[in-house]
Parts: sequence; C-alpha cells; structure tokens
Amino acid sequence: MHDDRALVENRLKRVLDERIRPAVYPASTPLDVAVWHAPGEPVPVTEGLTASPAPIAVGDAWGAPWGTSWFTVTGTVPVEWAGRTVEAILDLGFDENMPGFQCEGLVYRPDGGPVKGLNPRNQWVRIGAPVEGGEEVRLHIEAASNPVILDYHPFLPTKLGDRETAGSEPQYRLARMDLAVFDETVWQLVIDLEVLGELMAELPVDGARRWELLRAVERALDAIDLQDVNGTAAAARAELAGVLATPAAPSAHRISAVGHAHIDSAWLWPLRETVRKVARTASNMTALLEDEPEFVFAMSQAQQWAWIKEHRPEVWARVVKAVNDGRFVPAGGMWVESDTNMPGSEAMARQFVHGKRFFLEEFGVENEEAWLPDTFGFAAGLPQIIKAAGSKRLLTQKISWSQVNKFPHHTFLWEGIDGTRIFTHFPPVDTYNCSMKGGEIAHAARNFKDKGVARHSLAPTGWGDGGGGTTREMVAKAARMRDLEGSAAVVWETPAEFFARAEAEYPAPPVWVGELYLELHRATLTSQAKTKQGNRRSESLLREAELWAATAAVRTGFAYPHERLDRIWKTVLLHQFHDILPGSSIAWVHREAEKTYAAVSAELNEIIDDAQRALAGDTTSGGRLVFNAAPHTRNGVPAGGAAMAPTPAPTGLRARDEGGYVLDDGLLRVEIDDRGLVVSACDLRAGRETVAPGQAANLLQIHPDFPNMWDAWDVDQFYRNTVTDLVDADEVTPGEEPGSVRVVRSFGRSRVTQVLTVEAGRLDIRTEVDWHETEKFLKLAFPLDVHADRYASESQYGHAFRATHTNTSWEAAKFEACNHKFVHLEEPGWGVALVTDSTYGHDVTRTVRASDRGTTTTLRVSLLRAPRFPDPETDQGLHRFRHALVPGATIGDAVREGWFLNLPERRVPGDAEVAPLVTVDDDAIVVTAVKLADDGSGDVVVRFHESRGGRARARISTGFTATGVAVTDLLERPLADTAAPEPADGSVAVSLRPFELVTLRFSRS
Ligand SMILES: [Zn+2]
Repeated sequence: MHDDRALVENRLKRVLDERIRPAVYPASTPLDVAVWHAPGEPVPVTEGLTASPAPIAVGDAWGAPWGTSWFTVTGTVPVEWAGRTVEAILDLGFDENMPGFQCEGLVYRPDGGPVKGLNPRNQWVRIGAPVEGGEEVRLHIEAASNPVILDYHPFLPTKLGDRETAGSEPQYRLARMDLAVFDETVWQLVIDLEVLGELMAELPVDGARRWELLRAVERALDAIDLQDVNGTAAAARAELAGVLATPAAPSAHRISAVGHAHIDSAWLWPLRETVRKVARTASNMTALLEDEPEFVFAMSQAQQWAWIKEHRPEVWARVVKAVNDGRFVPAGGMWVESDTNMPGSEAMARQFVHGKRFFLEEFGVENEEAWLPDTFGFAAGLPQIIKAAGSKRLLTQKISWSQVNKFPHHTFLWEGIDGTRIFTHFPPVDTYNCSMKGGEIAHAARNFKDKGVARHSLAPTGWGDGGGGTTREMVAKAARMRDLEGSAAVVWETPAEFFARAEAEYPAPPVWVGELYLELHRATLTSQAKTKQGNRRSESLLREAELWAATAAVRTGFAYPHERLDRIWKTVLLHQFHDILPGSSIAWVHREAEKTYAAVSAELNEIIDDAQRALAGDTTSGGRLVFNAAPHTRNGVPAGGAAMAPTPAPTGLRARDEGGYVLDDGLLRVEIDDRGLVVSACDLRAGRETVAPGQAANLLQIHPDFPNMWDAWDVDQFYRNTVTDLVDADEVTPGEEPGSVRVVRSFGRSRVTQVLTVEAGRLDIRTEVDWHETEKFLKLAFPLDVHADRYASESQYGHAFRATHTNTSWEAAKFEACNHKFVHLEEPGWGVALVTDSTYGHDVTRTVRASDRGTTTTLRVSLLRAPRFPDPETDQGLHRFRHALVPGATIGDAVREGWFLNLPERRVPGDAEVAPLVTVDDDAIVVTAVKLADDGSGDVVVRFHESRGGRARARISTGFTATGVAVTDLLERPLADTAAPEPADGSVAVSLRPFELVTLRFSRS
C-alpha cells in the first residue's frame, strides 16, 4: 500500500496539541486572587497565612528576585459542575520547559496543612471528584520568585545569583488562576496517544509493530469528533485498547522506575531555598503516592530529610507515614550527594556515618547502595569507604556525560585502590530526570551495554535538579509500558529491589579498576578557591578538635563536645554537596559558605584551645608546649601528643653570584634567580638536582580560560594552546622572616607575593594572590627532572596512579585531575613530592629534552580561575596558598609532609607534656581519626589505614587502660565477621593489606 506514515504522524501531533490536550479542561471559571509580598526573607507559614493580602489580577507582574509572595485564591464551584471532577489550575507564570529553575509554590489549606507543590509541570490541585457544586474554595500559595539563572541562552553572566545584587524587577506574570472541570477520559486518551506515538517513533520502519500502531492511531483520530472531543474520547480510546494490550517480547529490556526528584542542596538557589524545594517536592510525592497505588518514590540526602523534619513538621508527618508504608523510600546513605573527588578521607567516611545514622534512627532503615546520580567523578578510594559503611552498591549516571570515551559497562564491579569491589550500576537511560518519554525508554534499552547477560536497568523518574519529582502523567505512561509490545517493560521499584534483581541475574559482571573519572567539569577542582580552602581547613580542624577533645576527656575528664562536633560535621558535610565544594553555585551560596567556614573555624579553634588548655598543665609557668596533631612524629613531638620543643633555627640565606639568593639547610640547597624563579633545588643527601636542566620551577603561568559551556565547571583542553609565563618580578628580596626570600610580581590587574623558605629538606612556598582577572587560569609549575610513566596523587585512605603520558584517549582526557594533600613522582630510588594545604586541581605532562635525552615531567598545581557563570565575580580578591616541594621524597615522605603542611604545630603555654592516646609503631599506618564514640559511651574510636600501598604490621598502643577492643564499621558498630585483635601489654597487633582501612573501638573501665 502507499506510504502515508508522515501524514498520520503529523496529524497525530496537530490534533493532540490543538484539540485533545486543550479538551482535558473543557470548562473553567476564574478564581479571585490576592497577594501579600513578604518584605524580605521567607516567613513562617502562620505569618504568611494570616497576612493581609491585596488584590492582584491575572496578567499582573509579581515577584522580585528571591522574593516570597503569599497568594490567596478564593472561589465557588459552579453548581452546574455537580458530579464532575474539578481542579484548580494555578499557573504562577511558569515556562513549562524549566521545571525546577523558576518560580515555585507550595499550596496550603487555610488550616496550614500542605496540599501540594506547584511547578511548571505540576499546576493542578484537586478540589473534588466528584464535586457537589457550590463548594467554597480557599487556598494559600507560598510562592517563591526564584529568578531563572540558566536561561535559553545559557551561561551568560548575571547579577541575579545573589539577593544583594539581583535588584527588584518583577520576574513573573500571573498566568492562570482558575477552577476547571477535569475530563479524565480525555486525559487518559492523551496519555494513550503519547505513549503509542512516542513508541512508534522509536520502532523500525520495516517492522510490522510500527505500522500496527500507526493504523491504530489513525483509527483513534478518525473516531474523534474535533468539535466534540469530550464526547468522543472514549470511542477513540477503544480503538487503541488492542495495541495497548499486546504484551512485551520475552527478551524485552526491564526497567525499574524509581520515583525521584534530584534536588541540588544548593546550586542556582541558596541553601535556604532548598529547604523549601524539598518541602514542595515531598508534598507532591506524598500526594501522588496516595493517588497511585503502584508508585514508589525514593529520596536521597539525609540532610534534606532533616530539613523537612525541622522546618515543615506538617510535611514530615506525611513523609513518615509514607515511609512506614514502604513507598517513600530513603535512597543511598549519605548526608548529601557530595562531591567524591575532593572530600578528605574522614569527611568521605562521615558522609556515610551521618547519612546512614539518620535513616537508621528515624526509620530503622539501612540501605546498601550509595546514590550519587549527579556527582562529578568518583575517587578510587570510595569503594572501600562504601563497604566500611556497611553498604555494597553504587548508582550514578554521570559518567555518561564524559566528553570523549564511552564507558564500556552499565552494570559492573568497581574495584577501588585497596581491591574492594562494589556492585555498580549506571542507568542506561543516561538521565536522573527520566520523564517516561518513549525516546528515553528506547534509549535505555538500546544503550544498555550488558545485553545478553543482563536485562535490568534503573530509571530515576521525575523532574529534578531543582526538584519537582514524578508527575501523574509519568505514572500513567509507566502503567502502559508495564507489558507493551515493542517497549522495554517498566515497573515501579525501590533501588534495593532493583539491585537485588540486577545482582541475581548477573553473578559475574565485568570489573573496572580505579577511579571513575568524569571527562567533563574538570575545573570544579579549582573554581571558588575560598570554598575549597574552607573545606580543607575545616577537615583539618575537625581532626584536631576530635583528637584533643578525646585526649583531654580521657586524661582530665574534659567534657567531650559531642553535640557541637556532630553539628559542625554536618555543616561541613553539607558544604561538600556536588555544587558547593565544586564551586558551581551562584554567588550567594559561596558568599554564605565563606562566612559559614569562618564560624566553623572559630568554633573548632575554641574547642581545640579549651582541650589543649585542659591538658597543658601550668599555663603560667612560662613553658611552651608544642602540640602535634599530625599522624607522624615531628621535631621530636610524638603524633597526637605534646612536648616541650625548641623553635627550629632559621635556614641560611646568601646572595647568589649570578643574582638572586640561595637557601640551604644542609639537606636541600635551593637557588632562586633574579626573576624569583627556582632554577635549582639540589637534594644534598642524594646529590641530585630536582629541577629539569634549563627550566625553572615556581613558575606562575596564566592561560585564557573560556570554555565552550559550563563556565565554572569546565576547562577545555584548548586552554593550553596559549600561555603566558609570569617571569618578570617587581621585587626579589630577602623576606621579613629570617631565611626567606620574597618575590613580588604584577600582571594584568593582579599582583602576587610569594615567600620562599627551606626547612627540613623542603622548599616551602607561600603564595598570596590579589586576583582581578577575567576568564583566566593561573597555574604554578614545577618542571622536574624525573622519568616516570605514572604519578601518584592522594585520594581517600591512600593514593591513585595516573599516567604521565597520553597514549590512549582515556589518558589524554585526564588533562586536569584531583589530588588531596600531595602529588608524588618517582624513579626507582628517588622521588619528589609536591604537597598543598588547599588546592586540588593539577596536571602532569612530559617532554624529552634534545640536549641530554632526559625526561622533563612538569607538575602544575591549579591556583585560580575566573569564570563568570554562575557567579560573575568568581574568585575576585585576595587568596593565600601554601605548597611545598619535597625533593628526595618517598611515597611515605609525601604522605607525612602532606599531613604536616595541613596540620601545623600549635605552640601553647604549659608545662605538662601530653602522651598520645594512641601510638602506632609503623609510619606506614596513618591514623585518620582519634575520637570518642558517637554513642556517648566514652569508648575511644581509632581509625587508621595503610598509606603507602604495601603491607603493614604494627602494634597499636593505647595511652589509657583499655578493657576491650572491637573492630567496627564506620558507624562504630562491631563487625560480627571480623575477629578483634587480642590486647597484650596495652597494645594490639594489626596486619594490614595495601591501603586497608580499619576502625578499632576501645572500651574503657
Ligand atoms: Zn545535581
């Protein structure tokens, strides 16, 4: 027969758009609307409900950026609608293409009970089904006029991202406020036609099913009277019933749909708005669960649950009921969906401790999956942490965003640095905002790389980023795809149910070893330097506060500040969210973060000071104690202890014959030329030069940095094509402190001051940048005379290796990568480390010299960027960094020097030396936490790991009387399947695999 396919497909589109969808609401009547604009920040619900609103009309502008407006809508259901289903349609001025990025609302009854949230894809409130007619309607809407930051022309600089700069221009225009009759039959017809039309478009044109669907759609369209859609919709549906009833093929892909709303804990909105976003979404989802018996919704991020509990008790009550019914499900077990590249070892562990504990304490629920759909890459230390938290699975889809290489599996075992393997699933639907469109479902089935051996995948389903969640339309579409010929089969399930199926069908999945590197968003390791420094500093201070408070508690009865530490940890963990620590939020978020980190620092320093004073003996004796919080002995002061220690003598400084200065401490001789560059760093013990011949280290380099998109997130590889070496110095002079050299440079509108010193064989570089550049990338380069195929950078509880070359596209794509406290390069017998107190981004490249055929391996740390979206003033102002070059460093030296730089000694008045609470007799074992148990029992918890990638045997000695010891998980729960070491003479013997992490819990009498 003749091919009329395009004709029928185009007919379907036009009739749906212009006749059938408009007929869903065949009659409507306007509501009366009044509004009260809250003068500043959001007000309590009772205040909004009782305020005196003024009339406002549809079409009127409303909503200054970040404002809150309380609308009151009133009306009467027309008596002639008796027996019909009636809904309020409340359109605040939505653009339906931007769910989560616009104005939003939460609808309340007059008594303050929440009804549901309003967003661009969810504008209805059910009034009655059926109504009697004559009912009085009164609803209140707490509307947030959040401005659109990511617009149709994305990534343009905007001042809307901070209340302080956003102005007061109304952002929205009230669009529709009606009562309307809802024709369910027409609505069902719309869903039928959408499902079949979208499925049809995905099917092969040479297959019979496509044509069967086409003919059925045509018959349905023929059955509709376009002048009486409501009267003929049932007849049209009858024409579709047959093709909707044919079952899926036995080999069809199986999709576990999980109701979801990805809610960024802050991003293009401040933290306080997320509190409300979560309440809106949770209100919608509890309402949807009541309407749809098969639907299941999962919500991650314990912090967001805690916000509902604290700020919206009415919503919380509904959530608790739905959780107890098993249908509103906690997903994952982390405090937030954090970044996983940058958080330090303990912080990454505590994400799980606090997340899992919240779900356990509130609901008795313990999940076995980590739920991180949107995180920008996954450090290779993570599998062991997930396992140590009592979990065993990971879900993310983000690696599908990689620019170059397609990941070879969707379901696989992910092996971390210590050999721990985690069952991992990447949803092949390639989104965490699945909307049950036929194209998405077909893509998931086609894209799934494990076909033939596995059949199940997961689809997080619902509007997300800014929340919203699943809609009734998505539920209705899923119901039709439960068992439908030509489609993957869709069923609502919890993440745990999906993982159980996936594991059962795939007993020997393939293995991926090492980090899950995201080939995108590499600049998130550098953007918003102050947020990153706040994180690193807070992590170090938390370690110190726990260590000294625990030591003082055991020794002196000092009151261990359980509640303060719990609260501060949660604050620091929140700020590791995957748009805060990565620096990809609006200015408001980063401005607040800087203040929050300052408060965290002040409070932790207070705890540390109090604990150290309690330990220090006579503080008026004139004696000076040195407290060493690092995990290794330093200048004779034991790790985790305090001792009287002399101040080290300053290093010798002399003028260099060719200009510049020489710093020499007998271990390391550094030559700084008259440009302020390090032209030589000679390891005197090894008699070996560190700097590549003819090159200079401590070289600042500046690149243009204007990525193709995602300004704060991305640095594109072409940035390297253009570089300016900052070799002109304003001043190179002896510094103020003895044995130091000061270098000052000006460039562009910026200025850098560096102070270089040499101490204990280490070149210390303090860099202060007054940064006023735009779209530039500042790096600090160290061209090293080292021949190595790979280098190590510290990650959680160990380090990972990356190639120094670019043989494959996978290696080439890692042109910017993450380190924690160190990067280390070595040839057999000799290595060099660069340690840092706050930077994370770095790159390593190699060249071979024509002169001597030696290899120059250049390590560059990333200092600052200046993207203009979403914060147009990113990183403008004063920054301070500390780095140290450690020639001759073994991997163990790199580990130790990293800790030393991040945990400087504290000199405190006192005369009582403090013996460590815990001593380890092998430096390969690093203690990352000494604390009192979170349960208030007074037990001492010690966490440590093997840090060099080898094996370690050691004795762990306690400086207190331990009455028992248990091996525990991260939540400090004894592990049933692991024998506790036998204590003998106040110590226990331990034997660790490479990078193995162990938590011991010592009870005290
Ligand atoms: Zn996100």
